[in-house]
Amino acid sequence: MGNKVVYLDNQATTPVDPLVLDVMQPYFSKEYGNPHSTGHAYGWNAETAVNYSRQNVAAMIGADAREIIFTSGATESCNLALRGVAGAQEKNSANSRRKIVTTAIEHPCVLETCEDLKKSGWDVIIIGVGPDGLVNMDELYGAVDEQTLIVSVMAANNEIGVMQPIEEIGEICQAKGAYLHTDAAQAAGKVPIDVRRWNVDLMSLSGHKMYAPKGIGVLFVRWRPSVRIKPLITGGGQERGLRPGTIPVAHVVGMGEACRIAVETTEKESVAVRKLTDKLRLKLFEMYPDAILFGHWERRVPGNINIGFPGFSGEDIVSSVGDKIAISTGSACSSAKVEPSHVLLALGVGEETAQSALRISVGRFNTESDIDKALQVLSEIIKNP
Ligand SMILES: *Cc1c(COP(=O)(O)O)cnc(C)c1O
Repeated sequence: MGNKVVYLDNQATTPVDPLVLDVMQPYFSKEYGNPHSTGHAYGWNAETAVNYSRQNVAAMIGADAREIIFTSGATESCNLALRGVAGAQEKNSANSRRKIVTTAIEHPCVLETCEDLKKSGWDVIIIGVGPDGLVNMDELYGAVDEQTLIVSVMAANNEIGVMQPIEEIGEICQAKGAYLHTDAAQAAGKVPIDVRRWNVDLMSLSGHKMYAPKGIGVLFVRWRPSVRIKPLITGGGQERGLRPGTIPVAHVVGMGEACRIAVETTEKESVAVRKLTDKLRLKLFEMYPDAILFGHWERRVPGNINIGFPGFSGEDIVSSVGDKIAISTGSACSSAKVEPSHVLLALGVGEETAQSALRISVGRFNTESDIDKALQVLSEIIKNP
């Protein structure tokens, strides 16, 4: 594979770590038991594996194993968090909290869920962000009150990598008695997470953003004080009844292993990834001094570059280099459309400038030579006018 396509789209998805794949393998073949088969060894082994994985996930975020609900991914987790909490509330007419607060730069799985809840009568408030991508804290402080049921703010953005002050937002929510949900799909494995210190009640994670497979996710649901939440589907009562259906053991095992590895490696890996990213960023600006970096310069996850080259179309660049380097224009979900990124527009970036954006995301398996190749390929296209 001499001319392998250099993969620099780790925020769209990551490869499954070979170490993760290794521990998953037996659960497709030899250990195929249903963890809910309580009468025999196949079931017991599967249950033991699921328990161990649950502990590893909990350890990565400073939670208890019983607070971990396995889902199919962060999209489902975010839906369960928002619709589940709203659904539990509707039955309880004594409580008048009807307000949901979120931000303009959330992933579509939060924004579109909130839009949908708005249609069913919820009062949805969308908080703006500054030009650096950080949530407007004054606006948030003003919006969260005794009528607020739940606040949903992402820990790290999928397009610009900017990290929000979740701990501070958690304090505001706690003071008003509102739940805080954070979509941490892009933070997990990249920065340390502590659900207690962050004061979050609910947190969504995605396996395939952290070297576990696609099709597995997690919703952290705080145990005490407990969260009033209703399942979206009905069935056999698995996952505290919140996510019924037979547990996909191999995927759960993969998620657990990915979290175990993250606990061991996040600190070292983030230094290495940041070093590669800094080099790439510096060289891109040398190459094209009029380039624009979108989002805060420092407060972002290691690995993310979101950069605009005014005068160029991001779409055109991405597709013309697609057989040599894999990068994107922003979120994988919006790159099929021609509309500019809702995240960049929320930062106050003009439509045309937003269309020039490239998201380049460095990950665990990238090397210095990947960065050099990307620079070489991009330098053939991007030249200062
Ligand atoms: C990828 C992503 C999601 C969706 O995760 P899936 O597991 O693919 O459903 C949600 N939020 C953010 C921030 C993401 O990056």
